[in-house]
Amino acid sequence: MHLFDDTVVIPNLKSQLGFMFGDEGILVAEEDTFFSAPDIDISAYDRIVVCMSGGKDSVACLLHLIDLGVDMSKVELWHHDVDGREGSSLMDWPFMADYNRQLAAAFELPIYFSWLEGGFEGEMLKENSYSRPHHVETPEGIIVLERDTRRARPGTRMKFPQVGANLQTRWCSSALKIDVARRALNNQARFDGQKVLFITGERREESSNRAKYNQLEPHACDRRSGRKARHVDAWRPVLHWDEEQVWDALRRHGVIAPVPYRLGWGRSSCMKCIFNDATIWATLREHFPGSLDAIAAYEERFETTISRNRINILDVSKQARPLDIEDEEAFVQAMKHEYSLPIIQSSGDWVMPRGAFEKTGCGPS
Ligand code: SF4
Repeated sequence: MHLFDDTVVIPNLKSQLGFMFGDEGILVAEEDTFFSAPDIDISAYDRIVVCMSGGKDSVACLLHLIDLGVDMSKVELWHHDVDGREGSSLMDWPFMADYNRQLAAAFELPIYFSWLEGGFEGEMLKENSYSRPHHVETPEGIIVLERDTRRARPGTRMKFPQVGANLQTRWCSSALKIDVARRALNNQARFDGQKVLFITGERREESSNRAKYNQLEPHACDRRSGRKARHVDAWRPVLHWDEEQVWDALRRHGVIAPVPYRLGWGRSSCMKCIFNDATIWATLREHFPGSLDAIAAYEERFETTISRNRINILDVSKQARPLDIEDEEAFVQAMKHEYSLPIIQSSGDWVMPRGAFEKTGCGPS
């Protein structure tokens, strides 16, 4: 969806700015597309998909639905496993899948996982070959969606995604999340003839790019006028929120801050996100010894660094002081696969995590 935003919606929006304001100053880019749409008639939808990364903004989306009194029997969570499930652990937090599973259980919601086979590492090692299949969990089980080799062409990556807004070169978000969700929507007959609301947790204040996103628009998988009559709207319910509102939602609902924020990260994305700043790389090197070795080895093999300044990851990690990690409980959890901390606070005061309002951490997810 970000690919759709960045390559289609935003360029179109720019050309329309200045003359398409509707009532109350709300920009109407085109029919069914709204720059600002904080309040919509959610009861009109048959199915509500919340993309749940396990970060505070996607959790806030879920909590906002509860606050709005939405019929939660229509809601399901989707989580994309960035490393896939074939054995790679290059990028993500080990507990992230289980955290999401337990979060869904805490709210008595179904959660469906999906991933690109081989994950980030598999896609990065693509060399004159086709991308691998997608695996999509559905109510009936996991389906494997092969690539259409008649239409796809073999490609080569053999380098890390490039840090920047261009989703063609910063390929991880599109290959590991946007594209996976697109195929999950397109290949499940249960969405045909349905009105589906597809929810993601971007916020305008995160970046100048996201500041331009539409809040409600037809999703790239929308086929409302097509044979399948599948109506899919993309809605970003917390797009206009500031970070204070996000934490307030977690506090009111007693959702304990996810582990990365407790460690001091300002964002919860891949543990080894390409957008990490020097402080986070330094923290990984100091507190999670060996965690940068595989990345450093790939940088050497590809002769291309993650840093645009051509500084290898180990040297970047020496450019800043590591964070002091004070939350021992979160630290112990950080490298475990099973998530063994509570999701919801059962007693005591809710604690604002160390990473709240910090700019340290990661860029786009
Ligand atoms: S969190 Fe970072 S590394 Fe992971 S998919 Fe998003 S941009 Fe890429």
